Amino acid sequence: MSQTLYYSTNKRSPAVSLKDALLTGQAPDKGLYLPEQIPQIPLDEILAFKDLPYHQVAYAVLKRYTEGMIPDEKLKNICRDCYDYEVPLEKVFGNNHLMRLDHGPTASFKDFAARMMARWMRFFLEQDQNDLVILTATSGDTGSAVAHAFHNIDRIQMVVLFPILEVSDRQRKQMTTLGGNVTVLSVDGKFDDCQAMVKQAFTDPDLKNIRFSSANSINIGRLLPQSVYYFYAYARLAREGRPAVFSVPSGNFGDMMGGLLAKRMGAPVEKFVIATNANDEVPKFLETGRYGKIEPSRVCISNAMNVGHPSNLARLVDLYGGAMDEKGAISKNPDMERMRRDIFAVSIPDDETRAAIKETYEKYQTVLEPHGAVAWAGLMRYLTAGGKPELAISIETAHPAKFPEEITRLIGIDPALPPSLAQVEKKPEQCQPMDKDYGQFKKILLGKFA
Ligand SMILES: *Cc1c(COP(=O)(O)O)cnc(C)c1O
Repeated sequence: MSQTLYYSTNKRSPAVSLKDALLTGQAPDKGLYLPEQIPQIPLDEILAFKDLPYHQVAYAVLKRYTEGMIPDEKLKNICRDCYDYEVPLEKVFGNNHLMRLDHGPTASFKDFAARMMARWMRFFLEQDQNDLVILTATSGDTGSAVAHAFHNIDRIQMVVLFPILEVSDRQRKQMTTLGGNVTVLSVDGKFDDCQAMVKQAFTDPDLKNIRFSSANSINIGRLLPQSVYYFYAYARLAREGRPAVFSVPSGNFGDMMGGLLAKRMGAPVEKFVIATNANDEVPKFLETGRYGKIEPSRVCISNAMNVGHPSNLARLVDLYGGAMDEKGAISKNPDMERMRRDIFAVSIPDDETRAAIKETYEKYQTVLEPHGAVAWAGLMRYLTAGGKPELAISIETAHPAKFPEEITRLIGIDPALPPSLAQVEKKPEQCQPMDKDYGQFKKILLGKFA
């Protein structure tokens, strides 16, 4: 098979290799990269995944995208190195299951993608003897997963900015206890101030000798690894190749895009339940065919999903034959009928999310956290609406111990911290305070990297 190229959803810049797509992130025309050909995996091979550990499934799926760019042996080792943790599948009741993607080092499903992206980047940088500085502004989960993924990765320096008052103690410690190649700056300001400084640094001519990248959620290197767990769960739980339903808690819709790619690659999925919190712009879009962002985004307890203009939407529209630009304007309508056949979209308000956490614990002794509970409640709505899946898998994206106040208040237990998070509590913190002052930020960057 020949090498896969990646095109931009805005179609105004040329298709590029995986390496270029990965190292640039967003295409020059501000579109998002997608593979020109979606590789196919035959059903008998998918069913045989049931006997493989997760890292081998990852290798079998991802080698189809890295062919000709990363040698197979290298990719095998990278997969083993990335996925050295469990991916539990639990039956909750009847045909309904839970997949816990929360056993990685930062107890968030973002570990799955961030770890792979970091290792792919290192591979390509080593090839060219290049170095890279990753700049990221964060208000929580993404920053810790990305910082952890790049920690101790050769040829890469990482700088994380976070708003001092908007990040919880636990989230902060996950970033400030890493040290080494990870520099953490606590900003006396808001998330938007951090974001603005990062953006300015990217285009500052005085910094043009420093090679920057952002590693944010639209990077193709984060999208592709998110299709692997759909194959993994399907193979382990499906009977005789019959189709499954997945329920996906969604914010920027990267997780869902991974699922849709898996379906296009051949995974037998009859429906994706796409569950958002009160930020319901995508369920509304599926219902009406019209898209409007929500500004500012609504604050909900599933805070990693408080997104009013999802960054992966242009990819969804493109996959169904339409065109949407980076601002959300649609210039060509997608095939809405086909989209509705594949996707059942629901918006779950906080009270229903809390009720799902309570009920799932009381009835089945299963502990959910707010994001996974949104997906679970979405699946329950699908069943109520008459869906009769032979196999349903709801995705849990964070560990309940990351939300101790909410969980304790609702079900009266304080979930034990997974070992990776417990260790963090005791380590010393390193963090440089700064004002929301670009001049100061620039001086730090010049001092460290110029
Ligand atoms: C980021 C995140 C989500 C949303 O995933 P998207 O790919 O942005 O839709 C859901 N749950 C948790 C815990 C997250 O960190």
